Amino acid sequence: MDIKFLDLQKINLQYQEEIEAKLLETFRSGWYLLGNEVKNFENNLAKYIGSPNAIGVANGLDALRLILKAYLELGQMKFGDEIIVPANTYIASILAITDNRLKPVFAEPDIETYNLDISKIENLITPKTKAIMVVHLYGQVCWSEELEALAKKHNLKIIEDNAQAIGASFNGVKTGNLGDAAGFSFYPGKNLGALGDGGAVTCKDELLAKTIRTIANYGSEEKYVNKYQGLNSRLDEIQAGVLDIKLKYIDKENSKRQEIAQKYCTEIKNDKIISPNFPENNAEHVWHLFVIRTKNRKELQHYFQENGIQTLIHYPIPPHKQRAYKYWNNLSFPITENIHDEVLSLPVSPVMQDDEVAKIIEVINKF
Ligand SMILES: *Cc1c(COP(=O)(O)O)cnc(C)c1O
Repeated sequence: MDIKFLDLQKINLQYQEEIEAKLLETFRSGWYLLGNEVKNFENNLAKYIGSPNAIGVANGLDALRLILKAYLELGQMKFGDEIIVPANTYIASILAITDNRLKPVFAEPDIETYNLDISKIENLITPKTKAIMVVHLYGQVCWSEELEALAKKHNLKIIEDNAQAIGASFNGVKTGNLGDAAGFSFYPGKNLGALGDGGAVTCKDELLAKTIRTIANYGSEEKYVNKYQGLNSRLDEIQAGVLDIKLKYIDKENSKRQEIAQKYCTEIKNDKIISPNFPENNAEHVWHLFVIRTKNRKELQHYFQENGIQTLIHYPIPPHKQRAYKYWNNLSFPITENIHDEVLSLPVSPVMQDDEVAKIIEVINKF
């Protein structure tokens, strides 16, 4: 039995009839941008998240870029201001910050949860700090009352990178509705995946929402009148139509991921492997990835491969060690670097069969 890391074809074919009908309908409509499909999906996404505003954009990176760009245009941030961000995030979170001529201030994560260690944030705050960007990495919620209190005390915005965690929640509040604004990605491999690129922003403030919508459409509210130096970052009608169909099934798909994660958490028993913990206190994770740690990663990945099981590494190199940020290469974040040296992602997806999960557990326990 060969087990793929993620079988996208199988995931999308679950909804073949509905999706094909929608593709054909949109094709024949003659209307491909900023139409009813996008409006409809935005309304349903806002309702699902519980946010007053949702704006469809071209991808997840743009969602984050647009949030910061709007804060700059509104005068709530200025070039050179600092944003605290986890050092072990996917590089998109950092690119959104540097692209806006803001400064990322890297914070070390908690080795057990891979998410921001809230206790390490306060001493990073300076007069230039304007926001904390929390990343719900691997679909695990990064939130706490302490975080909220800290942001309030220092008058900081909280921006959520929710690219990996649609459907997750804390005390019953969905990620994407916990902070001031959130970016979503609908990259095909994400929990809610399009048939290509897509993204969205949710936010509480109406003026921020309006500004983001305008910037994403060439900075224009009225055709050929440009208020801002905008971007072209729109969600296609076709992608919105597909996403609106898949949104109906996201809870079902996330439950399946939770079921698999729960099995991994309780049934993986091997001294060489450290598994994440299943839900801490009030958080409900959606397990975009199931990421273990081991000192013997190379051997384990090879052993999985010999057994027909595909695993991946998220991520092999932290942003501050990338050539793209060569001026930060000499910074040292030992916990982050340790994570990047030891993590391995096991297959987890809504279309995995029970016998596949059992096989993975059997193989890892024999390692
Ligand atoms: C996928 C991802 C993004 C970027 O989304 P794209 O749609 O690929 O641009 C941002 N942040 C995180 C944590 C991601 O996983």
